[in-house]
Amino acid sequence: MTRFVFITGGVVSSLGKGIASAALAALLQARGYRVRLRKLDPYLNVDPGTMSPYQHGEVYVTDDGAETDLDLGHYERFTGVHATRADNATTGRIYSEVIARERRGDYLGATVQVIPHITDAIKIAITRETDDLDFCLIEIGGTVGDIESLPFLEAIRQLGNELGPDGTMFVHLTLVPFIPSAGELKTKPTQHSVKELLNVGIQPQMLLCRCDRPIPDNERRKIASFCNVRQSAVIAALDADTIYAVPIAYHNEGMDREVLRHFSLPSEASPDLSRWQRIVDVVRAPEGTVRIAVVGKYTNLLDSYKSLAEALTHGGIANRVRVQLDWVDSQVFEQPDTVTRLEEVHGILVPGGFGERGTEGKIAAVRFARERKIPFFGICFGMQMAVIECARHLAGLPEASSTEFAPTPEPVVGLLTEWARGNEIERRAAGGNLGGTMRLGAYPALLAPDSLASAMYDGATEISERHRHRFEVNVHYRDQLEMAGLVFSGMSPDGILPEVIEYADHPWFVGVQYHPELKSKPFAPHPLFAGFIAASVQQARLV
Ligand code: GLN
Repeated sequence: MTRFVFITGGVVSSLGKGIASAALAALLQARGYRVRLRKLDPYLNVDPGTMSPYQHGEVYVTDDGAETDLDLGHYERFTGVHATRADNATTGRIYSEVIARERRGDYLGATVQVIPHITDAIKIAITRETDDLDFCLIEIGGTVGDIESLPFLEAIRQLGNELGPDGTMFVHLTLVPFIPSAGELKTKPTQHSVKELLNVGIQPQMLLCRCDRPIPDNERRKIASFCNVRQSAVIAALDADTIYAVPIAYHNEGMDREVLRHFSLPSEASPDLSRWQRIVDVVRAPEGTVRIAVVGKYTNLLDSYKSLAEALTHGGIANRVRVQLDWVDSQVFEQPDTVTRLEEVHGILVPGGFGERGTEGKIAAVRFARERKIPFFGICFGMQMAVIECARHLAGLPEASSTEFAPTPEPVVGLLTEWARGNEIERRAAGGNLGGTMRLGAYPALLAPDSLASAMYDGATEISERHRHRFEVNVHYRDQLEMAGLVFSGMSPDGILPEVIEYADHPWFVGVQYHPELKSKPFAPHPLFAGFIAASVQQARLV
């Protein structure tokens, strides 16, 4: 039987609902239950793919090619369960489904309304493909009290009624702030937030209270009594030094036990959390530190590189070192003599990105890494910049560029308007829609035996990785670039799309067209991140 746990948020946003949901799922999973996490987002975009990283942080891509909320990245990293298109729905997606059905005439003349048609569509989105689960955790984006989340709250209220307390549970995340002048933790915002929920007919059964210090018994009793929840279900969620410490912290507060009690499931035995403890131990007591420069564009907004930062941490875990990240806006390297600042780092990474601004700085960083033999990792846009750098400085093509910026006489990176996926040919129109029109999701690549890339993947010659890009390295330049020393060590199975590049005469220089950071997990660091950090540890010994 599938039980649904709904996680809402109150008081303010950014309380870490995604991590909290992922941590609860990890605890239930550690007890042997089959879990899946889903996110409902109240905005009108059909998916976050068209949103600026400044607005919404990273766009997380699933194997099946959906552009989703970054919380799905936390879900995958904490549970190892691969998310799918079905695991993220937005108001925009729900409405467009309902409106498409209305146009087809599926409603047989009925007046189409928010209740029941939108709420029914939400209920379908929540419950579809959940039969093989013990628990499905549904995170509701936004904050209770927002107008836009009302249809979602109404839908989960109805599900609570239809499936009853044996099949549903409501967890509400709130803030219990410490007011220095009073010297007290304040429970009033929590009380108000629960009132907001009650207004829409939802009585939470658990309160997860974010706070910066333990909640004294007196305050806990007050919250329980005013908000009508069991005192043992008032869970203090203290700030953690690493997100990977959150599952153990919540377990110590009794969160998983209370959820099982709610569903009348056995809760006495403790789950085996030793693998979480091992991760936390390595993160808290590293054997050294490596400094990595991330040379990008959105470096002032770390949410836009969420998975990247996590994957680098995982690479550190694999090598038992702390990875200190130096986020550098690539534009600084467009001033003379600034790139020597990179002398102090042990590895240089140029991540994914869009648009021309800052590209010359990225190319300068690539050149510095190549010439000074500093470990280099180029991801997606970073790989494209590495290829342009090679073309300009080694292959005698000073005008080499990407057609993403402007028409160029040497389109070393360009727009491919069609490529093979399985037996189908996908077509892209150059001037078409922006939403959902990139090469998205998992694609296979073949690695050259004896390449560094293949060695990184334990000798594998066939891999599958996730993509999100519109432009491709132009295979017509392959021979010219290989003559100049660049090795095309990974290609799409049809040999048309370059997937991995490297240099043979460099300690560690790898560019990949895909996004390996999306599949890295704390328990299974992605081999390229483990390898990049291992090479950076070597570099740290040299300098
Ligand atoms: N802007 C480049 C493209 O669309 C790279 C995208 C990325 O780095 N994700 O191909």
